[in-house]
Amino acid sequence: MSEFKLGKRSLEELKGVHSDLVAVVKRAIALTVQDFSVHDGIRTLEEQKKLVQSGASQTLNSRHITGHAVDLVPFINGKLRWEWNPIYNIAEAVRMVAKEKDIPIRWGGAWDIVLTETEESTEDLVAEYVARRRKAGKRAFIDGPHFELPKSKYQ
Ligand SMILES: [Zn+2]
Repeated sequence: MSEFKLGKRSLEELKGVHSDLVAVVKRAIALTVQDFSVHDGIRTLEEQKKLVQSGASQTLNSRHITGHAVDLVPFINGKLRWEWNPIYNIAEAVRMVAKEKDIPIRWGGAWDIVLTETEESTEDLVAEYVARRRKAGKRAFIDGPHFELPKSKYQ
């Protein structure tokens, strides 16, 4: 077990988020080797519009609006850090506990697959996703802190 636990702000962000996703996050913080904060849970349509305008998000149909997504950002030396190596570790912890709970998770590091159906390292999953997008002539919009419950099972 890690010594990490969710702070007050993280718990606040989880309000209104689907209970299956909350269960995964709460278990993940206990097992992860990398501390994290819940940076975004529920979002209003207004907040989402601003994110799309700024280029930070690509869709108005965000799973954050419906309570099916969270952003888990590495918390290092008292600061939130959007860095890939710690993000991979968080994604590994999320995958492990979600599999344990049989809850499917889609990850912003590789949008076109279901994270919980994979075995390879999360770093490889991102590299392969980017390669697939390039091959298709498309840009890869990767969002490592983003985890969501897939629409195929959660409307
Ligand atoms: Zn997100």
